[in-house]
Amino acid sequence: MGHVLIRGADLIVTMDDDRRELAGADLRLRGGVVAEIGTGLDPDGAEIVQAQGCLVTPGLVNTHHHLSQSLTRAVPGAQDALLFGWLKTLYPIWSGFGPEEFRVSARVALAELALSGCSMSSDHQYLFPNGARLDDTIGAAVEVGIRFHATRGAMSIGESKGGLPPDALVEDEAAILDDCIRVIDAFHDAREGAMVQVAVAPCSPFTVSRELMRDAAILARDKGVRLHTHLAENDEDIAYSLAHYGCRPGQYAEELGWTGDDVWHAHCVKLDGREIALFAQSGTGVAHCPCSNCRLGSGIAPVRAMRDAGVPVGIGVDGSASNDSGNLVAEARLAMLLQRVASGADAMSAREALEIATRGGAEVLGRSDCGQLAVGKRADVAIWDMGGIEAAGNWDRAAILLAGPTRVRDLFVEGRQVVRGGHLATLDLACAIEAQTRLARQHAGA
Ligand SMILES: [Zn+2]
Repeated sequence: MGHVLIRGADLIVTMDDDRRELAGADLRLRGGVVAEIGTGLDPDGAEIVQAQGCLVTPGLVNTHHHLSQSLTRAVPGAQDALLFGWLKTLYPIWSGFGPEEFRVSARVALAELALSGCSMSSDHQYLFPNGARLDDTIGAAVEVGIRFHATRGAMSIGESKGGLPPDALVEDEAAILDDCIRVIDAFHDAREGAMVQVAVAPCSPFTVSRELMRDAAILARDKGVRLHTHLAENDEDIAYSLAHYGCRPGQYAEELGWTGDDVWHAHCVKLDGREIALFAQSGTGVAHCPCSNCRLGSGIAPVRAMRDAGVPVGIGVDGSASNDSGNLVAEARLAMLLQRVASGADAMSAREALEIATRGGAEVLGRSDCGQLAVGKRADVAIWDMGGIEAAGNWDRAAILLAGPTRVRDLFVEGRQVVRGGHLATLDLACAIEAQTRLARQHAGA
């Protein structure tokens, strides 16, 4: 494995336990980990990466996405709808997807994330039409070279049973659990430094049965993998929970084994004080997706209250049908801005938002080996060129979310270079975009 010396960074924001910020420092990556941090380090045969004029941070972490949605951006009819109407417009389109759509869209969506400095991403795939499998997106992640937490999602309650999705998109519950076991056995790597992990992730409480939620939690604990779903996203979601289950989403989750430090929920816009306390006390994590929450008019998640209570919070770009981009820097900046809209200009600093997008996300995904630059932690490193127009006049390098680039100059994952000089180093991006455009046109009937 390569040996890299990142030399002379203007500033390294480590996000280590002491939150050290080191000016003019070097960073050595060797054997997939951060091997040394200091000034004037001996090259010792390393490939030298000059970082003068640059900010160096841990690679950003994306805790919630639906990669395949990058094929359904700005779909007319889904541009201005609330969550349930938005889903009903998109379900019929998604039901035409197959293995090629999932692989091609994942390639593009993961490349887009990598270019925004993201070194580790989760994906919530809950659609498996026409022979699609989780294997398709995992294959794309290996090609891009990003650390990947695939989740085996599912929907089992179709329209004929009072659910939201069309019957053609739902699966039999026994088959869902069988396939969860298959993909965990085939792909989940529990070791430190794992490049692929798998979690169990029924789509949401309104698309699967109570029994599947419960059985999924039992299976995940038996296999030692994490649990993920959508929870308390908007008012419709809360109303559904009250009408169908007679309780709020937090109570529903708790009753079925869906709280704990091995669980993370997407959105949680509508958590109340009691639910926030429950999440804090149980160590249940939250994937905060501010762009999607704005786009679908869902509201502002109470992230300040969650963080103050001790809830683990990470950032998620969510799918590109509700974002519509997959830029993690933009997402972290919006997270900061929305808390200020809700609670004032001192509600969240640029440093705190960057911490949520790095160390916070790693914690939500159960990866204490990632999300910070400290000796022995994984070599996931983003180098930001502060010499461009976005940062011209910036007085505080660490405040990249106030004034800085939204694309990374270089990105290392497990010590391997994924982005070099602002371009993807691992695959032919033009070719990937061409395949994506062709498929999008085909599904639009154009
Ligand atoms: Zn989502």
